Amino acid sequence: MTATLLDGRATAQQIQTEIKDKVAAFTDATGTTPTLAAVLVGEDPASAVYVRNKERACRKVGINSQLHRLNSDTTTSQLVDLVQQLNEDPAVSGILVQLPLPGQIDDLQVLDLIDPIKDVDAFHPTNVGLLSQGRPQFLPCTPHGVLQVLHRYDISISGKTSVIIGRSDIVGKPLAMLMGAKDSHLGPDLCNSTVTVCHSRTPDLPSITKQADVLVAAIGRPKYVTADMVKPGAVVVDVGINRTDDGLVGDVDFEPVREVASHITPVPGGVGPLTVTMLLENTLTAARLQKQVGVASP
Ligand code: NAP
Repeated sequence: MTATLLDGRATAQQIQTEIKDKVAAFTDATGTTPTLAAVLVGEDPASAVYVRNKERACRKVGINSQLHRLNSDTTTSQLVDLVQQLNEDPAVSGILVQLPLPGQIDDLQVLDLIDPIKDVDAFHPTNVGLLSQGRPQFLPCTPHGVLQVLHRYDISISGKTSVIIGRSDIVGKPLAMLMGAKDSHLGPDLCNSTVTVCHSRTPDLPSITKQADVLVAAIGRPKYVTADMVKPGAVVVDVGINRTDDGLVGDVDFEPVREVASHITPVPGGVGPLTVTMLLENTLTAARLQKQVGVASP
């Protein structure tokens, strides 16, 4: 079996076209344009690329973007001042602080300060809490991107056994909440999965991954998931982005796993473009929440 490719770029393009129409309607109705303020601290080249991609994506759908660049020796208190200023600025709909931050900065102090109504990454404890109670105001971008690609390819996870490798606050943990939830804004096929979360202390990982109808890798280790870890016919979603001498690779050993799985996301061109797209969706949601226009739970 050669797996069907789940094309994240094409899916992202389709969703961005929909977002562009919604942004235009919002701008017509309110006379304001949703605006994303991105904060980039230091010179990390990968972070600079991510921020540039986000700015470009904003332009494509009619969202304004601001870039606030700070030196690598910025202090927590300087960053706190900037976040406070952005919180208070009515022209700013969403605030994104690009991670990782330099070591001298207290990440949590900064992220916890972002106004939950402008928290387009959905990292604030208020938004994490709302998500865990099944009433999110923002969905975290990468987990939402994973659900979207499954949705757009008519893949159901309901009643299926899902295994997520990775338990980070950004990917694994919120994705487990969404996949195992009772409801989804994407319909009954994109929830009610029986979810197992694995991590670096999980013994005999292959014995668990081989049970997965849907296997998600969010580890950060190149080509870690090999074909013998995958159940024949499984849907495999590769969240990993690893820079190697051979270029960008995922957490999944793509070619051999492709021969075992039924569906698979590539790297690059899989979950990455969807993550950026869901950030656009959240920026529009933030603008709606602030204007109280057409607000519906995601
Ligand atoms: P992270 O915070 O480093 O978390 C990695 C997780 O993988 C941890 O829970 C860790 O376990 C687990 N892990 C590490 N080695 C393992 C092993 N040998 N066996 C089983 N589990 C293991 O990383 P992250 O932020 O979730 O990101 C994961 C990957 O996704 C990275 O490659 C990142 O670049 C990528 N990413 C991609 C996107 C996208 O848009 N496509 C977005 C975000 C992240 P412990 O908890 O025990 O340490």
